[in-house]
Formats: sequence, structure tokens, C-alpha cells
Amino acid sequence: MQQSNTSLGPMHEEHWKMLWKSKMHERLKLLLWRIVCKSLPVQEILSKRFPIPNISCPVCGEEVETVEHVFIHCPITVQAWANSVWPLNMDVFKDMNIDQWIKIIINPIEKLKIQGKEAKEFSLFAVVLCDQVWKNRNQIVWGNQPVDSIKLSIQINKVFIQHKQAWQSILGEKENSPSWKPPPLGWIKCNFDATVKPDKVVLAVVCRDSNGSIVATDSQEECLSEPLWVKSKAALLAASLARKEVVARVVIEGDAQSVIKAILNPSTTPHWSINAIIEDIRLTLNSFECWNASFVFRDSNCVAHSLAQWAYFCNSFGSPPLCCFWLGGRR
Ligand SMILES: [Zn+2]
Repeated sequence: MQQSNTSLGPMHEEHWKMLWKSKMHERLKLLLWRIVCKSLPVQEILSKRFPIPNISCPVCGEEVETVEHVFIHCPITVQAWANSVWPLNMDVFKDMNIDQWIKIIINPIEKLKIQGKEAKEFSLFAVVLCDQVWKNRNQIVWGNQPVDSIKLSIQINKVFIQHKQAWQSILGEKENSPSWKPPPLGWIKCNFDATVKPDKVVLAVVCRDSNGSIVATDSQEECLSEPLWVKSKAALLAASLARKEVVARVVIEGDAQSVIKAILNPSTTPHWSINAIIEDIRLTLNSFECWNASFVFRDSNCVAHSLAQWAYFCNSFGSPPLCCFWLGGRR
């Protein structure tokens, strides 16, 4: 690895590696990533883009709603931790910034001296807690009744147990794991997705190597069109992005089954309107020594999905600088 960690932003590569390799649900991993990359729409972040009359926390109203407030300072978060099986006194962490706190969540061994299997369970619990705190906050923003801290704690425990059980069954039968799987050594896997919004379509691709490290990302704005056409264009973006990498073997992966089938066997192309795109994809892929295309369920494709959402939300296209947080060995 030639790059120094200083170019990787505030979170170091090893923390991201630990996170992406962990067995927790992809959606939870993504939440931590969104928190650190400041792509979670808390009032303070939104107010930099839109005029917002009140930027205080919708839950307690006591402070400006920053990510630190939501996940470290907000009284409901403090209470949720106090009621938990790991009853942390959040006062100890109050001067930390969010990166420092997320690092502890990902790797509790150093600071909290929690070891082995318990460390993994703690990480899972902490992410579930963050997820439920964020969900609760959103419920309040959407006008629902706030829940009290006891109810929230019960809910956090319930969800934690569900995830833990799912985790155990994943460890038991790896085949059914909802987690994304890295490609074999010497390959890159390019996950593609597209998000269709009322005003535009955004395509996104995330390419990762056999370590799960991100080697390239791209996102692109497209005009509104049929979902089938849009997903095909996203697959083409994946093939084109892979082409720019110095790699001989590539697999492109997405949750659009009919597109994947058409790439593998053009005679199954479901509609003539994507014939030319499928042809372009195959032409690009045929320039590799080896290629494949695979279908994944949505849950395992959520890094690409999230990039598309992020690009739409931030109205920023191309390769986002924040992908630097994740990667090792970017070429
Ligand atoms: Zn608050």
C-alpha cells in the first residue's frame, strides 16, 4: 500500500476494512458510512444547502442537530445507552467528534476494552442503537408521536436480538448470507444501480477488489426513462468504469435480473429498446481476459444504491472524494 493514511480522511482504512468485512447487515454498515461522510440529512447539514428556519434537534430541541448531537449528546441517545446491556455513560464521550465515536463502535477493543465475540456484539448493538435513534428521529420529523426512552430501549433490544439471530444463522449457512461477497483474487466486482427520482435519474457504480476495498466509483446523471433502460445504462457505466482499471478480470453485478440475463445471453433481452446498450456492454466486457455478470438481491447491492442516492441528494456526480474514506489501493 503506497498511500498514507492521511489521504484517507478522518477514518483510517483499517476501520473501514473492519466494518465492510463484518457480518452485520449491509444497511447498518451503510448507516455508519453515511454518518461519517456527512450524508445523513441532519438539520445542520441541510441548512448549508437550504434555508431552514429551525435547525435544532427535532427530538429534544435542546441543541443544533449535528451528527454528534444525534448519536452522542441527544438525551434520548444518552438514555438509550444508559438502559442498555452495555450501560455506557455518554458523558465520557461528549467531547468526541463523530469520527472518534464511530471508530469506537467499529473497534471497541482499544477504548472500551471489550474483547473477542463480545466486541462484535457490541459493534452490532451500537449500530442498531444508532439506526433506531435515527428512525425515531425521522418518525418525529414526519409528525408521529415521540416515543419515550424506555420504549425506544425495548425496541433497540428487540432489533438487536433479531440481528444477532440473523447473524448466527448467516454464520451457520454462509450461502444465504445477505452480505455482499467480494470477487476472487485478481478480479474486480463492479456493482451498479440506478435511482429514479421525479426530476432525474442517477446511475452509480462501485468497483471493489477481492479484499472488498473500493478501487473506483462513478455516478452519472441521466434523463428520465424506463427503469429497464436506466438499469442497462448503469450496467454499461459499470463495464466502462471497469475498463479504466488495470485489471484483466471483471464481474459486473446488479439487482436487475433481466439486464444481467441479457448481458449473459443477448437472445433473452426483454425489449428491443436496450439491444444497443446490451451490445455495448458485451463489447466492452469482451475486451477483458475474463468476465462475468451476476444478479444480487437489493440488500447486497446497497453500496451502489447508496452512492446513487448520495449523488442525487448532493447533486454531485462523478467519483465522490468521500469514497477515499473507504478504500485501500485506489488506482
Ligand atoms: Zn436532541
